Amino acid sequence: MATYAIESGGTIRDMLARHRPDSRAVLDAEGRAITYRQLAEQADRTATALREAGIGSGDAVASVVANGPHAATSFVSLASSAVAAPLHPGLTQREFRQNLESLQAKAVVLGSDAPPAAAAAARELRVAILHLEPTSSQGGFTLQAQSDRAALPGRLAHGGEADAALLLHTSGTTARPKLVPLTEANLTASAASVAETLRLSPSDTSLNLMPLFHIHGLVGVLLASLHAGASVVATPGFSAMRFFRWLAELRPTWYSAVPTMHQAILQRSGRNLARLARHTLRLVRSSSAALPPSVFAALEERFGCPVVEAYGMTEAAHQMASNPLPPARRIPGTVGVAAGPEVAVMDMGGTLLPPGAKGEVVIRGPNVTAGYLDNDAANASSFTNGWFRTGDQGLQDEDGYFTITGRLKELINRGGEKISPREIDEVLLQHPHIVQAVAFAAPHPKLGEEIGAAIVLEQGAALTRRQVRDFVADRIAGYKVPRIVRFVESIPKGPSGKLKRVGLAKDLGIG
Ligand code: AMP
Repeated sequence: MATYAIESGGTIRDMLARHRPDSRAVLDAEGRAITYRQLAEQADRTATALREAGIGSGDAVASVVANGPHAATSFVSLASSAVAAPLHPGLTQREFRQNLESLQAKAVVLGSDAPPAAAAAARELRVAILHLEPTSSQGGFTLQAQSDRAALPGRLAHGGEADAALLLHTSGTTARPKLVPLTEANLTASAASVAETLRLSPSDTSLNLMPLFHIHGLVGVLLASLHAGASVVATPGFSAMRFFRWLAELRPTWYSAVPTMHQAILQRSGRNLARLARHTLRLVRSSSAALPPSVFAALEERFGCPVVEAYGMTEAAHQMASNPLPPARRIPGTVGVAAGPEVAVMDMGGTLLPPGAKGEVVIRGPNVTAGYLDNDAANASSFTNGWFRTGDQGLQDEDGYFTITGRLKELINRGGEKISPREIDEVLLQHPHIVQAVAFAAPHPKLGEEIGAAIVLEQGAALTRRQVRDFVADRIAGYKVPRIVRFVESIPKGPSGKLKRVGLAKDLGIG
């Protein structure tokens, strides 16, 4: 078997410089490519533009760029010359403001299709706006400063691989999300792990379907490919309808997605048998939520290539464990073996547990964040004896395959999209007629989990489910709006006397 020695660590620029300058790095959905040389030059030009705008290498630069080649090239450029902070374009103005504030962003890069809410939030906070002006469809751009507001010194160091390069929000157990700083060394280590697990080489092409503001797309697809000298097609985003055309025209060798996307692809596959018969995929990867074994089996049957399920997390710069490619064994229902950091199972007291024993999954390694930004409480509870506690519950078997059995953290995993229930509680409680509210994870056949909300109304008040949803939708992004709303007389309490969240769906007879 061939061995694939992929260098680990280093900076993003080192990574780009290791590959043939004229080979294709990022492609648009029409197949037009930017080469490794052009991508490195774009990163250099961006660094110059940022310095001219008074933005230092330790400054957080938010970006709101629709999925596609410019989201890919702006991320690579910003992460290698400042601290990149790509944001979900679907946020409301209030959320953009909260995000820019918590990031202490010195500037925000806005793509041509960024929603007006993003610019409005930046103006409210007097954050400098840099307009991303495309120079080519495949990812070239210039940055045009809209204001000449001088930037303040950044709060993060960034001059090399050991300094922050990416800041992402993660849904925490509080209403306010936590900020995860990842260094270039964290990012390139994780990219190298994915590349090694999947044996990526310059002859590979990935089809990126994942949003480029989430760690799965940024590292699991984009940086993993760039690490290997491979190519990435930066699609405008997931579309089950266009997927089969992309498969036929762009001839990717792999793609990575969340289970709901795989299910949507399977659903349309019957109508695309001719295109399927000629596909060039050598593997399909799934991550960010549990892949039901039935979907695993259907995918392998449809594509006739190995499906590898991986386990990832923002704080780990994505990959922690993965099922291996053949000839090693893939075990459906498991997330495979440690694939990057060391992975172990720990009890509440901090003792590592033997195979077969259930506990909290913990990790340590070069891809793991050194700690949340400005959050001593979260760091104190998240690190034990040098291990980072994932908040996931699981166990490993004698062969080192991990199974995720549950969750200790409060989080709703809606088909891979993570939502903090307390953020929803907080919004619901702003309604004058709502006296108690608890958002919870309700089981859902396709998404895995859906957002539920149990609500106690003020006496004599009447609200419809629709009114509740509209109230929330005015304040937070659509994907966080509860789809299941239950009005109750009182919310059950857990053993500690606190309002119950875990197990609430069952108590309310949902699922
Ligand atoms: P994120 O930070 O958005 O990548 O979310 C990380 C969380 O997603 C993990 O802590 C797990 O709870 C969940 N997750 C990721 N991959 C898997 C998987 N393969 N199976 C089950 N849960 C997963």
